[in-house]
Amino acid sequence: MPTNTPPHRSNRPRLCKALGVAALGLGLTFGATPAVADATFPSPEGNGSLSAIKFSADTVKELKKIERSSRHNVKVSTLRELGIPNATSERGQDLYVATVGTGENHIWVQARIHGNEPFGTDATLNLLKSLGRNGSKQYQALRDHYTFHFIPMYNPDGADDNIRHTTRDADNRRVDLNRDWATNGFTAKESSAWYQYWTEVDPMFALDIHHQGLKRQHDTNDPVSMSLGVSLAPGGPTLPGLSGGSYDTLTRQSMVHVYDALSKYGYTNVDRYQVGNNLEIDIKGGVVSAMMLGLNHNGLNPEGHSHPAVFLETSGNTSPGSIGQKARGKLIKQNEHAALALFTGLMDGTIAATDPERWEDIPHAPTAGYQTDYAGIVPK
Ligand SMILES: [Zn+2]
Repeated sequence: MPTNTPPHRSNRPRLCKALGVAALGLGLTFGATPAVADATFPSPEGNGSLSAIKFSADTVKELKKIERSSRHNVKVSTLRELGIPNATSERGQDLYVATVGTGENHIWVQARIHGNEPFGTDATLNLLKSLGRNGSKQYQALRDHYTFHFIPMYNPDGADDNIRHTTRDADNRRVDLNRDWATNGFTAKESSAWYQYWTEVDPMFALDIHHQGLKRQHDTNDPVSMSLGVSLAPGGPTLPGLSGGSYDTLTRQSMVHVYDALSKYGYTNVDRYQVGNNLEIDIKGGVVSAMMLGLNHNGLNPEGHSHPAVFLETSGNTSPGSIGQKARGKLIKQNEHAALALFTGLMDGTIAATDPERWEDIPHAPTAGYQTDYAGIVPK
């Protein structure tokens, strides 16, 4: 979710992963420079990180493998196969979604809208694998209650280039896909394709998985492994006015529930997502924000379908030295624990029974205001 803008455009062709870290030279900076961190957190000694990152072809291969080996009907499709016109990335790559479950409650789980934020891809693939194979009562209940729509790689071009954006084929302009579900947006093909799919699914909830830079808790200075976020700030200028305030309540309840669930794991240290300068995020053109706003683009959502949505920010990213191998498995796993807690808590009523005011108890700096994409900084 961090909003760094690359200093220059690039005409580079697809990144060859064999290039390795040293050859990247992308000039990526994410707030904090990698610092010495605990063994369980991203470490500057971590090297070879790109070799463990899934690019587009790896992801497609893994999806097909999961589909073949699933026992509970995992279905992998391209959006083109689903009849969505012109549904490719800017570079013409197919866009893949995998479904599992037979329930009437549709859940949308997307990862890698920012191409250089890789672990959501691994986490969604692992969740898909478990939901497709696990025969336990808990997983059967999830499959009966939900139909899951997993998008392990929203932005395959950005992933292959190891950059945040997609790059427009027409003019080489870079587009942040997470600001492109906007009234004047839909400037990239990926946005139109995924948006149309969203209007066909009509989910009841969405989860969006990101990375942030290395972060420390504001008061204790302990390294943070994950931050929990809502892209229209709870209690902020926008969210309380949506759906009679129900999304303001349900998103906070959900994040408190996830916070409690992750607290059981010793390696996690979770806080609330904030942008710099103690500001909360309040963007309308972010994909999961537009979902909550019920955006009607091109007349495809005339009924104004909307639903609550939240996001996760795992610490560390693909800039050199930011992701240590030691931490990789745990950083991925915390996303899976968070997602499963969310799915289960929404299903069994635990989240509905959670006190939303405990959102204030999740560590965060005192809120100074709101960073918006519609009115600059709005004071509290
Ligand atoms: Zn992001």
